[in-house]
Order: sequence, then structure tokens, then C-alpha cells
Amino acid sequence: MVRGSWPLDAEGKPRSFPEYSEARGELIARMGEYCSFCESQLNASLAVEHVLPKERHPEYELDWNNFLLACVNCNSTKGDKPIKLASYYWPDRDNTARAFSYGADGVVRPAPGLTDEQQQIAQRTIGLTGLDKTPKTHAKASDRRWMHRRDAWGRAERARVCLATHDTEAMRQSIVEQATALGFWSIWMTVFAADLDMRRRLITAFVGTPVDCFDARTLEPAHRPGGAL
Ligand SMILES: [Zn+2]
Repeated sequence: MVRGSWPLDAEGKPRSFPEYSEARGELIARMGEYCSFCESQLNASLAVEHVLPKERHPEYELDWNNFLLACVNCNSTKGDKPIKLASYYWPDRDNTARAFSYGADGVVRPAPGLTDEQQQIAQRTIGLTGLDKTPKTHAKASDRRWMHRRDAWGRAERARVCLATHDTEAMRQSIVEQATALGFWSIWMTVFAADLDMRRRLITAFVGTPVDCFDARTLEPAHRPGGAL
């Protein structure tokens, strides 16, 4: 996703954020009302998340370039763990569409095409916000993200079947509306992987999706300029 450059105030100067939470509206306008990590859509309780935890890096507490958006599950799992940026893949720096693979079971895994080292980074990233949590691995967890991903996969799959039998412009638009309302961009992109037109629509419709992360012709995720992946 693209956070974009530091927002400016009415006089054209970089806007200051007396409280980091005041950046929330601007972040949502730039990147959509989605958790930057698990891609859930949330109308409320989406927090301004610090890539480098503010407890360890107070100097970046009000720094626009250190902000992402996170749901309560991702935020609390990540917590104030020490962060070495190069040890993880980041949605605002790397092409995380290349890092992870999504399946019908709702579990996020490292993408199969990665090198061993890249797989390790991807796995570490998944662990950082707990995207691998399921009732099997965390029996008492109240975490329902895996289930929401599984449900989203089911919806996307049903939409794909509907489209195959009734392929109209209105149906395509309606599926994109359903996708943006629900979130889980990566799941929709995976289920519609063979439909170039739908992938293009999804890339466009989800605000903050960097176009330069995809091959212009095939729309396959490409190396992100300036990123590690
Ligand atoms: Zn999340």
C-alpha cells in the first residue's frame, strides 16, 4: 500500500500531529479503512499503528512515515516487540502480495515461490501480527481473523462462480463493491487470479494499492521499487 508523502496543512507546511491518533483520518483516506496487516475492513477500532513501536522509539511516535493502520488483533500481537525493519516484509515498503499465499482454510502462509531466506522473513512477518493463529495453534485465542478470512474466501469463490454463469458489467462492479466492503484484498486477488479484468478492477478499487507493484501486462506482483521484495 501507499501511505504517500507527509500531509500538508492549509499553509502548505508538513502537518504536525499533536497526538498520533489524529493521523487516523488521513491514513484511512490514503489507504482505505483496512488493517494494514490482516486486510480486515473495520468501520471502527482501527488504530494508528507504529511500525517501530513508540515505546521503543519515542522519536518516531508522531512521524507520519512510521504510521500504518491496524486492527486490535494485529496491533496487540505486534505490541512493542523490538523491530529490525529488514527482518520483516512491510506493506508500505515491500510487495507483500509476493510474500504470502492465501487459501480456503483462512491460514496465511509464505508464498511457495520464495527463496529459503525470503520464506523465513515471510514466516517471521506472519508471526509478528499472528496471521497464522488458528484454533489449532492457539486453542484459547479469541482471535477470529482466520475465520473471517475463510468466510471471505467462500464469498469470493461464490462470486467467481456467479460471474462464470452470468458475466456482465453490473456483476463485475457488484463483486468489486462486495470486495471493498468486506476487505481481504489478497483473497479476492487470489480467487480471481485467472481473471485479468477483475484483478485490474480490484487493484484500482482498493485505495492505496500501488500500481507499480504489478506487471503492467500480466498484473503479476512484481518487485516493488525500493523494497526488499
Ligand atoms: Zn489486522
